[in-house]
Amino acid sequence: KANRAFHPDDSIIDVQGNLIGEGHVSVIAGPCSVESEEQIIEIARAVKASGAKFLRGGAFKPRTSPYSFQGMGADGLELLLLAKKETGLPIVTELMDMSQLPLFDEVDVIQVGARNMQNFTMLKELGKIDKPILLKRGLSATMREFLMSAEYIMAGGNEQVILCERGIRTFENATRNTLDLSCIPLLKKKSHLPVVIDPSHATGINWMVESMSKAAIAAGADGVMIEVHNKPEEALCDGDQAITPDEFNKIMTTLKKYAEFE
Ligand code: PEP
Ligand code: MN
Repeated sequence: KANRAFHPDDSIIDVQGNLIGEGHVSVIAGPCSVESEEQIIEIARAVKASGAKFLRGGAFKPRTSPYSFQGMGADGLELLLLAKKETGLPIVTELMDMSQLPLFDEVDVIQVGARNMQNFTMLKELGKIDKPILLKRGLSATMREFLMSAEYIMAGGNEQVILCERGIRTFENATRNTLDLSCIPLLKKKSHLPVVIDPSHATGINWMVESMSKAAIAAGADGVMIEVHNKPEEALCDGDQAITPDEFNKIMTTLKKYAEFE
């Protein structure tokens, strides 16, 4: 179902009237984690003013260490919904386990994180629901494995899948991951699904987000997902890759030269 051969036209995913795919380029922005009402509302207002179409924020966080901040959980989801009410921005947030699904009723796009890309039980369950899924590429997943995971969701009947490249593991450790820009033409040739790039996790370095966002849009990505924090140095998660709302505004001004953000 994800295969271009059986579906020549680009898919357009409609999230409450916000389109992604086939020339509809969208920016998803927000903090790695929701940390407080003040934080999420301030960031949501700022990214909206700069032209972001979606608000991202983690409530359930897949952290490497069990002793690191694990996210605010259900309270974080409530704050995201409050930010949605305040700004009208649709919400993108990660589901880590199917038991959390009942809490996600008003979430607009469910993120499947890199670590769950091959959680086939979960993918099958998400295939039965009627909600867009942002599927992140696994840390070491090949293109075929990535597309097969999309296929797992689509096979169940849910064809609203957005592919997200977030950097892959290589020998290089100067950056957090290695951004595989070549996946944009490749995924778009093999599949009709929208492709979004996450330059924040791909590089792990705040000052690289702008150039990699430009590169992604120039290469034909249908969007970028960028981590923005009002106080990056105090962020509870991924502060090194977070940019400030001012920096985000500057990036949006630049990106608008490369694509139309309607
Ligand atoms: C995230 O988007 O905050 C995240 C945890 O991403 P990934 O699953 O790509 O590591
Ligand atoms: Mn993060």
